[in-house]
Amino acid sequence: MADQVAASGAMQSRQKNKFALPSRPRKRLFIGMHLLTTVVLAVLLAGIWYVARPGLAGIWEPLPLIAGAVFVAFVVAVLWGLLSIVLAVKGLPYLPIFRRQTFALINMLFPMAVSLGKPFGVTRRQLEGSFIAVSNLLFSRLGIKVPAERLLVVTPHCLQLATCPHKITRDPHNCKRCGGCDIGALVTLADEMGFHFFVATGGTLARQIVCDTRPKAVLAIACERDLMSGIQDVYPLPAVGVLNIRPNGPCYNTHVDMDEVRAQIEKLILPKAKPEGQIDG
Ligand code: SF4
Repeated sequence: MADQVAASGAMQSRQKNKFALPSRPRKRLFIGMHLLTTVVLAVLLAGIWYVARPGLAGIWEPLPLIAGAVFVAFVVAVLWGLLSIVLAVKGLPYLPIFRRQTFALINMLFPMAVSLGKPFGVTRRQLEGSFIAVSNLLFSRLGIKVPAERLLVVTPHCLQLATCPHKITRDPHNCKRCGGCDIGALVTLADEMGFHFFVATGGTLARQIVCDTRPKAVLAIACERDLMSGIQDVYPLPAVGVLNIRPNGPCYNTHVDMDEVRAQIEKLILPKAKPEGQIDG
């Protein structure tokens, strides 16, 4: 059995060399589509308000004014959130208040942004990828660094070679590191750098792992959809997303760019203190 896994693993490794890494999502796509969505929504709300105004006044005289104020406040809040994101992406000072509310509003507008993007050839996956790129950049602008033992790296089960018999969801160290999939490399990296590494079979287990390990930051490896919901789920816990690679279609024998994972983790963790007496050079 071990030979079969190793042979299958070697084949996967050879195939992996041919994988095309996903192209980097453009951050302006997410911001631009949400700006367009906000403008369309503002026009729609203004139209609704204009038509409903006489009826509202008939119910109670100040009602049109109140309804108008609520609509304006909603649009201003979304624009505020988008402006904060643009300033942060450009590296300019911004007021990081109402970030949770901004996440909630952007989440609410996301289905509309997807619909508006279709005529322009923008797919849901592109928008989600763009959101992750924006979120990662905002995270790095904050300059957050945590001790390695307070970082949780979590990945979905589909990263494991489907034919591998070893149960790694309870303990990734059950992996024999045969090279058949990227789990072995991640276990080795976790041992080398000292972060927590877990493989989750679903969102519920991922949330449970977050509760159990109480990390100060999370690095998640997954597809666009799961990363987008996961980053929002764990907020205010800082989370970085790394997109998986899907040469065999979704959720089956997926891979990850290990160089990208290592680079992101190095940005996230505090350097280890040198043992006493050790000097550079
Ligand atoms: S999980 Fe470990 S043992 Fe199984 S195929 Fe992947 S690297 Fe090999």
